[in-house]
Amino acid sequence: MQILDGRAVSAHIKEQIKTEVATIKQNGGKTPHLAAILVGNNPASEAYVGNKVKTCQELGFGSTLLRFDTDITEDFLLAEVQNLNDNQDIDGILVQLPLPKHISENAVINAIHPNKDVDGFHPISQGKMLLGQDTFLPATPYGILLMLAHYNIDITGKHCVVIGRSNIVGSPMSVLLARNTNPGNATVTLTHSRTQDLKSFTLQADVIIAAIGKARFLTGDMVKEGAIIIDVGINRIDDATRKSGSRLVGDVDFDSVAPKSSYITPVPKGVGPMTICGLMKNTLKASQIKH
Ligand code: NAD
Repeated sequence: MQILDGRAVSAHIKEQIKTEVATIKQNGGKTPHLAAILVGNNPASEAYVGNKVKTCQELGFGSTLLRFDTDITEDFLLAEVQNLNDNQDIDGILVQLPLPKHISENAVINAIHPNKDVDGFHPISQGKMLLGQDTFLPATPYGILLMLAHYNIDITGKHCVVIGRSNIVGSPMSVLLARNTNPGNATVTLTHSRTQDLKSFTLQADVIIAAIGKARFLTGDMVKEGAIIIDVGINRIDDATRKSGSRLVGDVDFDSVAPKSSYITPVPKGVGPMTICGLMKNTLKASQIKH
């Protein structure tokens, strides 16, 4: 069993991006600039956005964080997105999800200019992805592809079972794994909450991508020997032994699954850092396309 070390791979990719940005600046080019919008003060969202802004600074990107109270109106937020669309200095826009219930996430995502859609959630980005056209790939599935590529894991012809069909992880992941690209060319089964007898699918899987949002959901008895396991889940559980009283676990029960796997991502330090890499690569791309 080999750990797929998201922290190490992301450090390597970030070093490459940093060098590229330094060269762009030396040649008088524009500094890539990411704008993030955070509505409310959900602790998990605060941590995610904080990490993204910190990474921008690390890589030499410009960053702008706009924070708003939970009670802002949808119209107000749409106007803020439009301001960022019009701002020539901003290359990429991300709106941290989830948004408060009274604001339509679709309306806000659709309002982001597709050329600045560095999270890859806009219908134009997702449509182009489906058609195999060059676009911004959703950051988490993109990060997983970068991870597979880094370890030279060939999934051609392999049976990949994706658990979860969200618009930001499971569904795009299933599309990307099946494309005629490298990594890609897998045979993909997309499973979800209405799948009957999930275990019968996971037991056949050469590769499992778990994106469910349920702590330690995938257990060793559901996995065949030698499977490649990608754990997207981030779940906080109580842990009295920790000073904070809690810790993060994935959707995979690491202790029972790891011994059966050939490769496995840990949580934390697995897919999470790769998601940030996907976002940063998209931001650099957005800036280069524009300038
Ligand atoms: P989501 O809640 O939008 O989707 C969960 C999916 O799981 C749904 O499609 C649902 O059909 C499926 N599901 C629920 N119960 C199931 C069951 N019993 N059997 C099979 N499928 C079931 O979640 P999401 O946004 O895709 O996120 C999933 C997890 O990944 C969460 O823990 C989230 O925090 C995490 N996440 C991590 C990163 C990262 O960078 N590591 C990025 C995005 C999301």
